[in-house]
Amino acid sequence: MDAIPIPRDRADACPGALQTHPAADGALARVRVPGGALTPGQLRVLAAAARDLGDGALELTSRGNVQLRGLRPGSEPELGDRLAAVGLLPSATHETARNVLASVLSGRVGGLLDVRSWVPAFDTGLCADPRLAALPGRFLAAFDDGRGDVAGLGADVGLLALDSRTVALLLAGTDTGLRAGPDGAVALALAATRAFLAVREQQGGTAWRIAELTDGRERIATALGGRRDEPRTVPRAPAGGPAGAVRQDDGRTALVAVVPLGRLSAAQADLLAATAPGDLQLTPWRSIAVPDLPGTGAAPALAAAGLELDPGSAWIRVTTCAGRPGCAKSLADVRADAVAAVRSGTLPANGARQHWVGCERRCGRPSGEVVDVVATGEGYRLG
Ligand code: SF4
Repeated sequence: MDAIPIPRDRADACPGALQTHPAADGALARVRVPGGALTPGQLRVLAAAARDLGDGALELTSRGNVQLRGLRPGSEPELGDRLAAVGLLPSATHETARNVLASVLSGRVGGLLDVRSWVPAFDTGLCADPRLAALPGRFLAAFDDGRGDVAGLGADVGLLALDSRTVALLLAGTDTGLRAGPDGAVALALAATRAFLAVREQQGGTAWRIAELTDGRERIATALGGRRDEPRTVPRAPAGGPAGAVRQDDGRTALVAVVPLGRLSAAQADLLAATAPGDLQLTPWRSIAVPDLPGTGAAPALAAAGLELDPGSAWIRVTTCAGRPGCAKSLADVRADAVAAVRSGTLPANGARQHWVGCERRCGRPSGEVVDVVATGEGYRLG
């Protein structure tokens, strides 16, 4: 049964690279990185922009995107020019609509097929359709190669490989029974995305997600038409992603560096860019994968720079919202408090997976089982 729709009385105002958000510490820009795929040159440009225009760091989000904080007043046009020059802003009109997750290290290790080519194909199709500029910034697509790492993250439109020739269409996290071959999967996802806007228009209102429509999943699937198979159970989202050294199918190595609290300094970003022989991949777990390395030789330098490569590290289990000084609503500097708790070995809830927040809005809460550590103004409480 569909969730009870949430009425929206306004269009969403998700920040973008050009349409920034006025945070307490200055303007905040969110740069969409479909599939988390970044070239070393793009990462260098982001690092330079953080250094020259922002507060010197990049924030990684749970959708595999990047934020710059503390931007100088009026720096949006320069940021836009820098991003556009390296392909990070292919469409000014569609910039906030390009929210795409993809299986981490697809085509390199694990999975039933390689979804890497789906991401640019979907992104190009999305940006080429003027109607899709109306997609809300919260609308999310996820392409899962069958390993089950991103299918359960609650995307509006999902593709899940069932075998090397069959792909399931998921809507609002549930299998519709509609199927495509690998070559037709992106077209089906784009059709479902257009159908969301059509159903939303029929129902009036400004729904941000498929789950907010009345019978949205069924209505979109009916609009798409076609034979339906028995729906499959969608794998639950894992508690976290890979970390450390991962051996690829071709014998090379991927190093997956977890970024403590998702805050990547410009210097760390430059080091990652210098380490990577080709594309890097941002993950939904605030880490960066550096694939296709000849071995683990780069690991000590990354660790010395403060990036975490130990799969057992406490940093992998701790996330925070922005807190003070970035958010005026915050009752505490949650980042500093979480850092102190990790360093002193005093994490609450016996060190379980936890999300620290400065107020009840609980921004950035990861999906799955996680303990909330909520600032009260007089300390923190759990729950
Ligand atoms: S949870 Fe509260 S304090 Fe934290 S970023 Fe959101 S609004 Fe601000």
